[in-house]
Amino acid sequence: MTLDPRTPDTARNASPGTDGGGSPAPAPAPAPAGTGSSEPSPAGSALPGAPPHGGRLVDRLVPADQRDEMLRWAAGLRRVVVDAQAAADLELIAVGAYSPLTGFMDRDDYESVLESLTLDSGWTWTLPVTLNVDPEEARQVREGETVALAAPDGTLLALLDVEDRFRINKGREAAKVYGTQDPGHPGVHALYRRGGAALGGPVRLLQRPPSVHRSRILDPAAVRAEIQRRGWRTVVGFQTRNPLHRAHEYLQKCALELYDGLLLHPLVGPTKDDDVPAGVRIDTYDAVLAGYYPGERVLLSLFPAAMRYAGPREAVFHAICRQNYGCTHFIVGRSHAGVGDFYGPYDAWRLFEQLPRGGRGLAVEPLFFEDAFYCRACGGMATARTCPHPENLRVSLSGTEVRRMLAAGRPLPPEFTRPEVGTILLEHARAAAARGGWGGPPAPAG
Ligand SMILES: [Zn+2]
Repeated sequence: MTLDPRTPDTARNASPGTDGGGSPAPAPAPAPAGTGSSEPSPAGSALPGAPPHGGRLVDRLVPADQRDEMLRWAAGLRRVVVDAQAAADLELIAVGAYSPLTGFMDRDDYESVLESLTLDSGWTWTLPVTLNVDPEEARQVREGETVALAAPDGTLLALLDVEDRFRINKGREAAKVYGTQDPGHPGVHALYRRGGAALGGPVRLLQRPPSVHRSRILDPAAVRAEIQRRGWRTVVGFQTRNPLHRAHEYLQKCALELYDGLLLHPLVGPTKDDDVPAGVRIDTYDAVLAGYYPGERVLLSLFPAAMRYAGPREAVFHAICRQNYGCTHFIVGRSHAGVGDFYGPYDAWRLFEQLPRGGRGLAVEPLFFEDAFYCRACGGMATARTCPHPENLRVSLSGTEVRRMLAAGRPLPPEFTRPEVGTILLEHARAAAARGGWGGPPAPAG
C-alpha cells in the first residue's frame, strides 16, 4: 500500500491563471506544469490515492471564464488539424492523465522515451506522445509561434505553443515502441499513416473533442475526489478494451478481496475496427456491475485514450495513467495491450520488473495475474496458479471461438460469461450481421 504524504491536487481550479489559461497575449511563455494546490485536505492528513507521476497533477484546461476570449483569439491563429489519436491525447494531457506531460513531446523527450524509457527529466515514460503533422506543414510553422489545434471537423480544440519541430523516423519508432516494423500490426499501421514530422510544446485545451460517452468520463481530479469520498486508501485500476467476461470479473474480485476499491477503466478512444464497439462494451460493464458487484466498491469511468497495441510499453503507459487517476495498484494480465502474436505473454511483466520503482519511476504497484477460467473439477473460477486439473476440464474460449458462437446465434456458456453479457453480445452480433458484418471478436484477455 502506498500513501502519499502530500496533498493530491484534486482542486484543479485552485489557481487557473498560473497554468490553464493566461491572457491571450501573443505566444505567451509556457507556464510550469500543474497548478498545484495550496489548500489543506479536509481530513488534515494524507489523502488516499497514489501521487501523480511527476509529483503534481497537470492541468492545461483553459478556465471557463476565459474560454470565449481565447477562442476568439485562436480563430485568428494558424490552424493545424490533428488526427483522432492526437485529439484523444490532447484531452488526456490537459486533464492530467498524462502527468507530467504538459503538451506534445519535443525531440529530447521523444528520443529519451525511445532509447531510455524515460522523459528527458528522468521520469519513467514508455510511449511517444507526439503531434504528427505533414513535414511540409511543419516547415511553415515557426518555433515560438502559438498555433490553434483543430479537430478534423474544424472544431477548435486547443492552443499549442510550438517549441520544437522535428522529423519522425517511423521505421525506427515502430521497431523501438512496437518491437516490429510489420504494417500488419495495428499500432504500426496507424503510425505509418500519421504525418512524418512532429510539433512539440505545451498545450492549453479550449474545448474537449466530442464524445458520445462524455457523461461517463471522469477526469483524474474527479476520480480522486470520488476515491476520497468513498474513503478508499487503496485502489486497483483495471484497463480493458473488451466486454467483461467472468475471467476479468475473477481477477477484479481477487483484487477486491485485498484492496479497498476498483477503478474499472475501459479504454474507449480509437481502437482497431474489429474490437467490440465501446457502446456495446459499456452495456456489458453496466450489466455485470449491477448484477454482481458491490456498487460502493467499484467506480466505472471511461478512459478516452487511443489504443496503440504496443504490448509491454503500453502496459506501463496504462499503469502510469491510472496512477494519475489515483490508483495505487494496477492489474496486468498476460499479453496486456498485445495483439496477435507480436509479444510474448509475459513480456509486459518483465518490463515492469526492469523499471525503477519510486523516485522518478512508478509509484503504482503492478498486480500480475495469469489468465483465469472456469474449471469443472474445481467447480469455480481459477488460474494455472490455483487449479491442478487438465485443460480439458477448463471452460476457456478464444476470441475467435466466441465470435464464431455469436455469429452462429449460439449463447455463450454461463461459465464463460454472465448471461446478461452473453445476451448483449448476441444482440450485437445479430445487429452486426444484419448490417452485413460482425463488429468484432470479444477476446477473453484484457
Ligand atoms: Zn481445477
